[in-house]
Amino acid sequence: MTVYRELNTPLRTIMTPGPVEADPRVLRAMSTPILGQFDPAFTQIMNETMDMLRQVFQTKNHWAFPIDGTSRSGLEAVLTSVVAPGDKVLIPIFGRFGHLLTEIAERNGAQIHTIETEWGQVFDQDEIIEALERVKPKVLAIVHGETSTGCMQPLDKVGKACREMGIISIVDAVATIAGTEVKVDEWQLDAVIGGTQKCFSVPSGMAPITYNERVEKILSSRKKVERGVRTAEDAVDVLHPIQSNYFDLSQLQDYWGPRRLNHHTEATSMLYALREGARVVLEEGLEARFARHRLHEKAIMEGVKAMGLTLFNDVPWKLPMVTCVNIPEGIDGEAVRSMLLEQFGIEIASSFGPLHGKIWRIGAMGYSCRKENVFAVLAGLEAALIRNGAVVQRGEALQAALNVYETAAAEKVMM
Ligand SMILES: *Cc1c(COP(=O)(O)O)cnc(C)c1O
Repeated sequence: MTVYRELNTPLRTIMTPGPVEADPRVLRAMSTPILGQFDPAFTQIMNETMDMLRQVFQTKNHWAFPIDGTSRSGLEAVLTSVVAPGDKVLIPIFGRFGHLLTEIAERNGAQIHTIETEWGQVFDQDEIIEALERVKPKVLAIVHGETSTGCMQPLDKVGKACREMGIISIVDAVATIAGTEVKVDEWQLDAVIGGTQKCFSVPSGMAPITYNERVEKILSSRKKVERGVRTAEDAVDVLHPIQSNYFDLSQLQDYWGPRRLNHHTEATSMLYALREGARVVLEEGLEARFARHRLHEKAIMEGVKAMGLTLFNDVPWKLPMVTCVNIPEGIDGEAVRSMLLEQFGIEIASSFGPLHGKIWRIGAMGYSCRKENVFAVLAGLEAALIRNGAVVQRGEALQAALNVYETAAAEKVMM
């Protein structure tokens, strides 16, 4: 008979673009006893979470709540609920996750229009606006922080242009939420999807989303309540009902709103986790949290460069929480990555598509984004590179990172 031992996972330093290390406070919150989904003690937790999510999204939108499922469940819920068969959707693609948006919209029968740029680039906002004017779509779906390439697409002008043209903007901010500015209201974005396992430092399994009345109006027009819970006030003849039941935002709204209409059973422990995660984010303060991400980003970039390596995304549109390192000529990227994991317990990421085998991606997100992790990844990478035959500037990486931290500390004293 096989005896299955008690779960005992190795302790890792996770420096990838997700999942990253969960905040210990979040893990503790997850062991809180279960409550029923209509228990007033639980619905209060739901309301508090909505309130905190609004603050993280920097929005006054009424609707801000999590979808149960990984981040792509949030993408799928918004796209499926908004996009009806035949609707025109414009998707600018600059990496893997733009392709994912396309895939989801396509499966909903959308009429897809894409513009593409090389992986490693982003779009000039005017280029997107020009495509919006040409295509006149109902929806623009776009990624904010493209983790596959380590690039971040500016969106302030695009959001405004969509508003003026009556186009719904849907933004994948999975990688950027709680790590850098995602100004939902100021940039006039209509629906924004965040992630938990990245800068939020909550385990994977939920996707916080927010959307405004413009989106809500579309949902109302497509709303069809399940027969078993329907009442006389609910419409039954709907032209294009939302195709998914699970991801039907019009019904989910009725569970997150005062009607508390039964839908699926809320993921109790994950909600505890998200609530604590949001509390941690707001306690630190958004500005301070964004500054922390930028500080450790700088230490990683300077450290890597001091070692003699080059960066793939040393560009003005760099995604602050992901640093992409060009794998040196003649070095087996996967051998270095395995050694980092096996010998040092440190995980970094490879990439996808055209960048596979060409770059490593070092993430510094949420709870993983801290000084000791930065020193660990730089030291481990240097050692693994030397062991794999690379010629590097020995000992320089940690000195460069230390310089960044000491300079930042001195500047803080002077302020
Ligand atoms: C990680 C990521 C996703 C997918 O998230 P899952 O939780 O794996 O579903 C989507 N978009 C972006 C930009 C991401 O970085």
